[in-house]
Amino acid sequence: MTRAPAAPTTPGPGIAGVVITPGHPDYDTSRTIWNRMIDRRPSHILRCVDAEDVCRGLGWARATGREVTVRGGGHSIPGHSVIDDGVVIDLSDINGVFVDPVARIARVGGGCLLGDLDRATQAHGLMTPAGAISHTGVGGLTLGGGLGWTMRRFGLTIDNLLAAEVVTAAGEVLRASATEHPDLFWALRGGGGNFGVVTEFEFALHELGPVHLAANAFEVHDAPVVLRAMRDRMPTAPDELVWSAFFRRLPDWPWAPRARVGEPVLLAPLAWVGDGDGRDHIDGILADLARLGVRPLATGHGPIPYVELQQLNDELNGHGHRNYHKSAFLRDLTDDTIDVLCARGGVIASANSQLEVLSMGGAISRTAPDATAFPHRTELWPVNVCGIWRPDEDDATNVAWVKDTFAALRPHLGPGSYHNFGGSDADEAETKDGFGRTWTRLREVKTRYDPDNVFRHCANIPPLGEGD
Ligand code: FAD
Repeated sequence: MTRAPAAPTTPGPGIAGVVITPGHPDYDTSRTIWNRMIDRRPSHILRCVDAEDVCRGLGWARATGREVTVRGGGHSIPGHSVIDDGVVIDLSDINGVFVDPVARIARVGGGCLLGDLDRATQAHGLMTPAGAISHTGVGGLTLGGGLGWTMRRFGLTIDNLLAAEVVTAAGEVLRASATEHPDLFWALRGGGGNFGVVTEFEFALHELGPVHLAANAFEVHDAPVVLRAMRDRMPTAPDELVWSAFFRRLPDWPWAPRARVGEPVLLAPLAWVGDGDGRDHIDGILADLARLGVRPLATGHGPIPYVELQQLNDELNGHGHRNYHKSAFLRDLTDDTIDVLCARGGVIASANSQLEVLSMGGAISRTAPDATAFPHRTELWPVNVCGIWRPDEDDATNVAWVKDTFAALRPHLGPGSYHNFGGSDADEAETKDGFGRTWTRLREVKTRYDPDNVFRHCANIPPLGEGD
């Protein structure tokens, strides 16, 4: 005798997209994110196809008492985009990019990767500023702020956001812009994934041709001279000039001297994001360094199409590694701070780890501090301690290098941190400190749009009343 199957205790999510549960052939690949330290097992992964689908999936998860998180490009370093037992609203199938080259705007699906955005916009000679690795998600990156190669010239990614289509915790589909739900629009620009699911971003576009890049590797013993020059030059440099510094082991690049591959070096790329080739500026800096007796041990000069620039370091930052990061802003690049950076950069544990100092300023600092929820407008020097190692390398050694480096830098750090970088184990106090002056206003907006804290699996801003 055959028996009828038992009726399901809860109806399924009823979405148009694919539903992935344990046992599905794609379950393991779908729950895997960029940071392989994160190994979580959601009950459902809902690959929604549009805003209405997100409403259905979210409504079902809430009605059945399940926890929810949102996945864009899966690059959250602390692993916010996957949770145990709960529901992942996976936006990877909402990945269309529509470019209007005349109006110079792009409408970008909430699950797009930066590479999707860059390829579609550069096909028209246009771009919007975003991060530096093309497999990062537009969603998480934009909602945190968005730092990258072109930020000094065109501002952060959020400074170019014109509007967003948002599914709220209550299941409404809203458009947020300067004139529609302006409080929500303010909070989305820096406040992270706390306020709803963004199914579409609308960005302003700019013309951009090839970027002129001088990729330089210096000896670690020359790094103090290079970093002092960067400190002295960048605060007054033209917006088009980019200069950042990465202590890491020399990658096996075609232009790297064979004998030096794998040894700690300072990579200090200089780039010109603008008209002309910026050679006066770049060559001037290299000539000044040469007068001080410092020459790159390896260098590669030339124009590079923007899409290629955005992919240049994709492999170095590829999927499949274990990661533990910490991030902050340096108060200043004093000689003492530089000494700490050089000491810690010279003892990097793994071939993929990096100690990074970026240069902000330029257009970023000309947006008023309260105009968006990104509170770090006047900071100049983000510092990231990125522990990145292969699964067959030792966790303890690599985590210790990050923690010890961060501890050594602590006396040199200012308040706050950019929550998109690092935060591997940020607690509530650190998250609050990270948002700084925007915290109270963000909590007010959170209370309006997500009073039950449905979107809590992120750098969480609790609604007023919760935890007070
Ligand atoms: P996910 O892990 O998919 O999402 C993280 C969280 O963001 C989600 O849990 C959710 O809360 C929220 N979220 C994502 N998409 C949406 C959406 N559409 N709607 C609502 N909420 C959403 N940052 C920079 O600023 N500049 C860089 O150059 C840069 N480079 C990076 C390179 C690498 C290799 C990595 C790993 C990170 C980099 N970051 C950079 C940090 C990056 O901005 C964050 O990790 C960001 O969270 C990645 O976004 P994602 O969509 O891929 O993340």
